[in-house]
Amino acid sequence: MTFDYDLFVIGGGSGGVRAARLAASEGGARVALAEEYRMGGTCVIRGCVPKKLMVFASAYAPAMVDARAYGWDVTAGGFDWSVFRAKLDAELDRLEAAYTTNLQKAGVQIFNARAVLEDAHTVTLSSGERLTAKHILIATGGRPFVPERDGSDLVITSNDIFKLDELPRSILIVGGGYIACEFACILHGLGVQVTQMYRGAQILRGFDEEARGHVAEEMRARGMNLHVGTDVLDLRAQNGGVWVKSTDGREAVYDKVMYATGRRPNTDGLGLAAAGVTLGRWGQVQVDDYSQTSVPSIFAVGDVTDRMNLTPVAIREAAAFVETVFKGTPTRPDHDLVASAVFTQPELGSVGMTEEAAREREPIDVYCTSFRAMQTLFAGRPDRVMMKLIVSQATRKVLGCHIVADHAGEMIQLAAIAIKMGATKEDFDRTVAVHPTMAEELVTMKTPVRAG
Ligand code: NDP
Repeated sequence: MTFDYDLFVIGGGSGGVRAARLAASEGGARVALAEEYRMGGTCVIRGCVPKKLMVFASAYAPAMVDARAYGWDVTAGGFDWSVFRAKLDAELDRLEAAYTTNLQKAGVQIFNARAVLEDAHTVTLSSGERLTAKHILIATGGRPFVPERDGSDLVITSNDIFKLDELPRSILIVGGGYIACEFACILHGLGVQVTQMYRGAQILRGFDEEARGHVAEEMRARGMNLHVGTDVLDLRAQNGGVWVKSTDGREAVYDKVMYATGRRPNTDGLGLAAAGVTLGRWGQVQVDDYSQTSVPSIFAVGDVTDRMNLTPVAIREAAAFVETVFKGTPTRPDHDLVASAVFTQPELGSVGMTEEAAREREPIDVYCTSFRAMQTLFAGRPDRVMMKLIVSQATRKVLGCHIVADHAGEMIQLAAIAIKMGATKEDFDRTVAVHPTMAEELVTMKTPVRAG
């Protein structure tokens, strides 16, 4: 049987674009890609990239306060959202165009249309075309999930935040995960009055307990109104804002309410089940170690598989898929010891096991330090940095590293290399410190604070 293409990719986000480009340029495949919205996907258009630019924008407020403490005669005027928004839109347009150009250069045919599966080798496009491919890759990512309730039509999600015409004066953020915590810090930094409500006992479930507690303390110390063990009871439109009653009895009106209560895979109406692809409880595409679905010609990578929902992971999954299918080298994406950073203020950088998970597995030594960093101490800020290493007593290998500090994302990337290589605590110890830095504390912690 002859096909129109060797590979048809559905979704132009981080995973889909990488797979299409590599299959065409390195795998010699005839490739097409369909994207229904904007090339670049969540990461570029309404996720990591615009979020990080907002993180940078928001960090100037405390930096200007610190500058005064360092002797600079500066006065912060107001933050002009419309100036930032225009620059942000232009930057996203530039990146989107670069993604398109790179695909075209690699010889990938792009369809600006929605693609739906008809069978194991056929897709139909919203433009009416019907195309066949030897292999189909599902890379449609995810979307924000808002729990169904009265008033849920009054709330916004992270998709909307980059498109606001003006910044709200006040906002309630619901949720305690990456997105809720990051936007609480960003919007607080931009001068918005932020209240955050999280239903559980501590934000950032899944991260190291001590690190979670440290982030929460620092957020509160910086003026964020964080309520844990609290959820929304009732929502109503009022005076152009949203009236909210919460489980702690509080009633207040906010200009905006943003739900950051998780994400769900984008698989609705894609024709997956009809084509025989097995889906999980939340609609995630079930795949094996090689990203192959229950239909042998159909593969899936990235958030739509709900394995580890991070851009660099989707990119690795895409590359492994191309190695496996187009370069004759069966390759499993490696999901072990993946570092990540939560871009709160301060940031949380994390790699490997939490103290709690490691303790369940084997006897450990815990090295931990909390201190005031030179730069903020001098500026008179009370901020504290936390650095923590979890070490196996049997092998002395560093099983986990958790850092709460400004620029923790940059630090954890480097610590992750050593830990991925299997570094022991003694390897950290024999590494001479870079002085004066915050990160030097990672190689100068001598005595465990806990063992067992
Ligand atoms: P998360 O899964 O991280 O957090 C969801 C939050 O919503 C949790 O606090 C959860 O509470 C809460 N929640 C879920 N359902 C409800 C409900 N019905 N009512 C009230 N609260 C609820 O999702 P995010 O949307 O924050 O992020 C999605 C994923 O995207 C992340 O897990 C991460 O993989 C990725 N991401 C990564 C970033 C980075 O690398 N910096 C940045 C942003 C996103 P509970 O804990 O009780 O379940």
